[in-house]
Amino acid sequence: MSLLEPDRYFSRVSAVSLDDDLLALGLTHVLLDMDNTILSRATHSVPLDVMKWIGDAKRAGIRLCLLSNNWHRTPYATGEALALPVVAKAMKPLPSGFAAATRKIGGTRADTVVVGDQPSTDVLGAHLAGMRAYLVAPLVEEGEPGHTRFVRALERALIGSPEGRDPANACRKGDPL
Ligand SMILES: [Mg+2]
Repeated sequence: MSLLEPDRYFSRVSAVSLDDDLLALGLTHVLLDMDNTILSRATHSVPLDVMKWIGDAKRAGIRLCLLSNNWHRTPYATGEALALPVVAKAMKPLPSGFAAATRKIGGTRADTVVVGDQPSTDVLGAHLAGMRAYLVAPLVEEGEPGHTRFVRALERALIGSPEGRDPANACRKGDPL
């Protein structure tokens, strides 16, 4: 399997079932990407369903850490608003940020999964660090910086578009895209 190929695909964070896709698999720690995974670039806010998912995950005993390449103040403000620990300026896909975030929440490679929207940073980095990776569709693609659009086009060329993927791994029916 390519290092860029995620272990699972989801339409969005809230489509990841806490029971079936995390706890049943022994995944009790989650490293969450920020930009376009939980924070919309269009509205600069966290959608309500994502906010509820984070709250439900915490109540289920799942430990979460934001892991972001963002160099601005946003990851800290978002972490504060959601009461989540943060590793920013992570330089994904380099493994150091993944290791720091995992340590921060007391996880191990085996019980931690990375959830993010970009194969070349979130998925590749998770796999280089020896962890599983769940890829979500980006919340919003419009308005993304030129370099991100370029990287997405390259990623699609390398691993194909979500539409062509194995339906067993694809989004659940009825999930909003
Ligand atoms: Mg992202």
